[in-house]
Amino acid sequence: MADSSWRCARCDEALTARKTVFTYLGQSFTHEVLRCPKCGRVLIPPELARGKMAEVEEQLEDK
Ligand SMILES: [Zn+2]
Repeated sequence: MADSSWRCARCDEALTARKTVFTYLGQSFTHEVLRCPKCGRVLIPPELARGKMAEVEEQLEDK
């Protein structure tokens, strides 16, 4: 699982790490994700879904 050489399932291109801006629940944040240089498909790591998005949800509730 620690293998960093992810490949796009569709084009078999090596994915490259790239800073991407996400917008979630009206909040935007930047996170480095793996992206296919050919088709632009982005791999969302589970820690982003669990970490950053949960963080945004907490901020919204904490008003
Ligand atoms: Zn691809």
